[in-house]
Amino acid sequence: MREEIARLMDLQVLDRQLKELELSLADVAGRVEQLRAETDKNQTELQRLTEEDQQASAARKRIEKDLAEGEARIRNKRMRLNLVRTDKELQAVTTEVESLKETNQRLESELAALNESVGVRATSIKELGEIVANGRAELAAAEKEIADRVESLKSAITTQRAERDKAADGIDRALLSRYTMLFQRRAGVAIAVVKPLAKDGKCSGCQRLLPPQLYNEIQKPKQVQIYSCPNCQRILFYEAVPQTSEE
Ligand SMILES: [Zn+2]
Repeated sequence: MREEIARLMDLQVLDRQLKELELSLADVAGRVEQLRAETDKNQTELQRLTEEDQQASAARKRIEKDLAEGEARIRNKRMRLNLVRTDKELQAVTTEVESLKETNQRLESELAALNESVGVRATSIKELGEIVANGRAELAAAEKEIADRVESLKSAITTQRAERDKAADGIDRALLSRYTMLFQRRAGVAIAVVKPLAKDGKCSGCQRLLPPQLYNEIQKPKQVQIYSCPNCQRILFYEAVPQTSEE
């Protein structure tokens, strides 16, 4: 049994390396994915601002034209003022001039507001344009950089998995599936090491002291069954201290 558990210990080392490789791969791929999503989002916003800008330019041209026409009309009416003969006519033309002036004032303030928003937007477009350009360059560099890394990680994973499967081959199936479940649920530590009581006598997984009876059992050289930590359920492996000549 001790030998079986020792094999599981070796398997655990391989499994952890495999898991690390897989996490690195996911991390590398995820970073590029994030960069791509960010750049796409900025690109869409830039597009929207540019369209808004085009609409604002068209609106500005329209208002400027209306303003010029209004000015011309006011000039016309003023000239007519010199020709009027009656008070009634004078009153009518004056009212028309006032109304035209009001319209032009309104157009002028619309134009001012529009100009202000155009200025703000131009700044955003410029900034965002730079961000998008930088994002694209960064993305291209990252894609190039990770292409190699992804390839080497993938091949390392394949090698690692083959080695791992070889190590798992021949281990009792029930024990192997118990190990696999623990590996997943206990953050990659399915087998806990127990050091001699003189050192600490604790389960290395959860740091709890083992009950004396259990400690005695796992210490026996001929272990007949697999023991689990009563607290965290990890499979226990007693780390016997090799007898040195001095002892
Ligand atoms: Zn434990």
